[in-house]
Amino acid sequence: MKIRIKPKKISWLILTLTILGFASPTLLANRQFRLPAYYQKIQELTARLEPEIIAIRRDLHAHPELAFQEKRTSGLVADYFQKLGFEVRTGIGGTGVLGVLKGALPGPVLAMRGDMDALAISEETDLPFASREKVVRNGQETGLMHACGHDIHTAMLLGVAAVLSQMKGQVPGTILFIAQPAEEWGDGAQKMLQDGVFRDYRPEAIFAFHVDDTLKAGYVHYVPGYSGANCDTFFLNIRSEGCHGANPDQCVDPIVVGSHVVLALQTMISREIDVQDHTVITVGYFHAGTATNIIPDKAELRATVRSYGDQQRERLKEKITRTITGICQSHGAPFELDYQFGTPSLYNHPELLRAILPTAEVVLGGPDRLIEDRPEMGGEDFSYFAREVPAVMLSLGVVPPHLEKTAVHSPTFMADESAIGIGIKLMSCILMDYAWKPAASRVRAVRAK
Ligand SMILES: [Zn+2]
Ligand SMILES: [Zn+2]
Repeated sequence: MKIRIKPKKISWLILTLTILGFASPTLLANRQFRLPAYYQKIQELTARLEPEIIAIRRDLHAHPELAFQEKRTSGLVADYFQKLGFEVRTGIGGTGVLGVLKGALPGPVLAMRGDMDALAISEETDLPFASREKVVRNGQETGLMHACGHDIHTAMLLGVAAVLSQMKGQVPGTILFIAQPAEEWGDGAQKMLQDGVFRDYRPEAIFAFHVDDTLKAGYVHYVPGYSGANCDTFFLNIRSEGCHGANPDQCVDPIVVGSHVVLALQTMISREIDVQDHTVITVGYFHAGTATNIIPDKAELRATVRSYGDQQRERLKEKITRTITGICQSHGAPFELDYQFGTPSLYNHPELLRAILPTAEVVLGGPDRLIEDRPEMGGEDFSYFAREVPAVMLSLGVVPPHLEKTAVHSPTFMADESAIGIGIKLMSCILMDYAWKPAASRVRAVRAK
């Protein structure tokens, strides 16, 4: 798919092919003459559907819903899939929706995922479709906002579904459109899998976008291999009988013990962990005490532990448990440790990524539009799908032209809507190109966990 033609030869080709009536000079100049015919069709359909999809995005943006409460959103998605003539399953893993597009030609099962949930953030943009929705959380009223771009992800899911449904005759195989709940809570994907989202159709590969708040529209970040971390947590209570601050020999001081724990864990990272094994331990919560002269009866520590791969998270659990146990025991402090594995690390299948990059290069208009990014220690529950089937998530630039940057999870997050059409075109071409690949050159196995 990658097109490499020496500039000198282009004019000759344009002349010859134009004389032969095969293509217009404009098309040739745009280097589209060797692209499959469906590229042109995808381009036309996207241009036609874009206003409708942007209107849907604005409607979703104005009506955000929290994790597992995406009733309006999932209803809208299901209705849309129904109108496209898809086989539709609703209520998967709570509010998840599956739309199945059956192409007219034989081919593989592929999937695209879009997430639907919003965040408990009060929007502070002056957009005409800014969210005014409210929700009560922990007894307090707060706003609701699509501050992570999931409205855009869902809109693009519908856009790709609409484009490809109108060219069914040229689609090989089956394409699953998965509208997922509760990404922000980290378990929507897992719930959908447990509820059999792949029960009737198991995809060979799954793709997704996330908006990128550091790139302009038209640019894409990609990361081969691990691109999101294991998001594990531990809750530690260090106990004491408590005593007067003037008589510290009378009881264990849980604050001192907890301080040793915090420092020992940081030392552990630098002395016990291979520098190549990305690892973060952040004790973000350390609560103890009520007064200057009281040694409290408890210190509570909570931490996030980030890493890549199953082996490393198991190793960390073992090391952290050993360190905490050793420190507490040496101080004679009873303790309770609750260690929980959360969202697993996201693995972008390198071979699958390599297979689709040429498509992205053509659709985006050049290799400079595709930027390899560094892996991050953030979490993304698309990883649950990636543990089942080869998967790739691409980061789609959305920084508006008038801003230098924007920030997801912030009340002022704003996206350039021109990214929506770009995303629809890109994903439609990725799915089509990959579906047209012969079985032998498609990726088979999931690697690395
Ligand atoms: Zn988010
Ligand atoms: Zn997100």
